[in-house]
Amino acid sequence: MSLYVFNTMSRRLEPFEPIEAGRVRMYTCGPTVYNYAHVGNLRAYMFEDLLRRYLRFRGFDVFQVMNLTDVDDKTIRSAREEGLSLNMFTQRYKDAFFEDLRILGIEPADKYPAATDHIPQMIELIQRLFEKDLAYRSDDGSVYFSIARFPEYGKLAHLCMDGLRHGARVNQDEYEKEHVGDFALWKAWTEEDGDVGWDSPWGRGRPGWHIECSAMSMSYLGESFDLHCGGVDNIFPHHEDEIAQSEGATGKPFARYWMHNAHLIVEGSKMSKSLGNFYTLRDLLAKGYSGREVRYLLVATHYRNTLNFTFHGLDAARAALARLDEFRQRLRDTAASTGAGALPDWAAARQREFVEQMDNDLNVSGALAALFELVSEGNRLLDAGQLSAAEAAAVGELLSDWDRVLGVLTPAQEEAPPDVLERVAARAAAREAREWAEADRIRDELLAMGWSVKDTPQGPRLKRSA
Ligand SMILES: [Zn+2]
Repeated sequence: MSLYVFNTMSRRLEPFEPIEAGRVRMYTCGPTVYNYAHVGNLRAYMFEDLLRRYLRFRGFDVFQVMNLTDVDDKTIRSAREEGLSLNMFTQRYKDAFFEDLRILGIEPADKYPAATDHIPQMIELIQRLFEKDLAYRSDDGSVYFSIARFPEYGKLAHLCMDGLRHGARVNQDEYEKEHVGDFALWKAWTEEDGDVGWDSPWGRGRPGWHIECSAMSMSYLGESFDLHCGGVDNIFPHHEDEIAQSEGATGKPFARYWMHNAHLIVEGSKMSKSLGNFYTLRDLLAKGYSGREVRYLLVATHYRNTLNFTFHGLDAARAALARLDEFRQRLRDTAASTGAGALPDWAAARQREFVEQMDNDLNVSGALAALFELVSEGNRLLDAGQLSAAEAAAVGELLSDWDRVLGVLTPAQEEAPPDVLERVAARAAAREAREWAEADRIRDELLAMGWSVKDTPQGPRLKRSA
């Protein structure tokens, strides 16, 4: 069996074979850092995390690059509104983004290049497009890509571009362009840009959004790489334009596989601020949900299906996790200090199923079905006293192995913030020194912080209190 993925380019399931055996070079479009990520954004990062984790589970060495778009209309406008420099303004949202990833247990990418650190690479790429006669300069000093001169334009989005390529009228507002579908590679500086701008052979200005991703992906992954991901709304025009720029400049295939996650809706409706159903991770944490619960909900729907994000779903995630925690604890208690034996046949069957399902374009629903089947069968055997210590240990190891992919079993202890962990350590030290009053005082302090601590033979166990 090998891994199959749905390639947006061919609209088909294809066996996954990287260019270099055993090594995956992967590019994922990152955030525009002008506000907090909403759950729809987070869904994309979660899908990419699941993909990356599964590739590693399957033995691939993964090198992932995710860009940070820290210069565009929105970042410039918002920074000016707050009277901050672009850097100071975007740093706040870069920090918030990494905090979100940490809370959600998203494994860090290998590189997070920021657009403003790669302007020379973008200028160089635009120069190559001039050499290939694919770019032109408009009267105001902006530079555009000419889609009419790139016959393959539209191949990812499967659009019939004939009308667009041959003589569609350019509307009044976009008079600088030869064709309405042409897109900016370089935007000439205007008053609204304030002190944001870089010198280029075409005058002062800044890069277009699409060229950022082409330049940064090829800088770190080479001119041809394996995997390019994002949300479906990135397919057109963003990814189509990335292909045109990259393949136009190099004459080589850009990314071998294109994978896109479907939309997220909230309580059955499109998420929007005006409907009051617009949520950031902070909003959900403030409502008492944990990063782990949000992660579970975002992971549990197949990436190509629309995800309906609901509070009922978050509550169901909480219940599912409690069931997993309880099972895992029962296994630990049964296994005690025994080492793992051979995995019993009934569990080995679930193990094969898990891999078969995930190999099928990350069919996570099937993988979770295998997981909960394992929980039911395991609980039944534990109830009947028919699971040996060595078998319990082996099943526990299987769960840990699967969690390298799912990332949902991390006990609450590991996701507690540092100040809580510091208090837990202080309480353990007090108990060690038999200072019971002090230990109790810290326990109350922890309760006030929203965490309850229970002492077990394996050490203190931390739980989010209700
Ligand atoms: Zn991108």
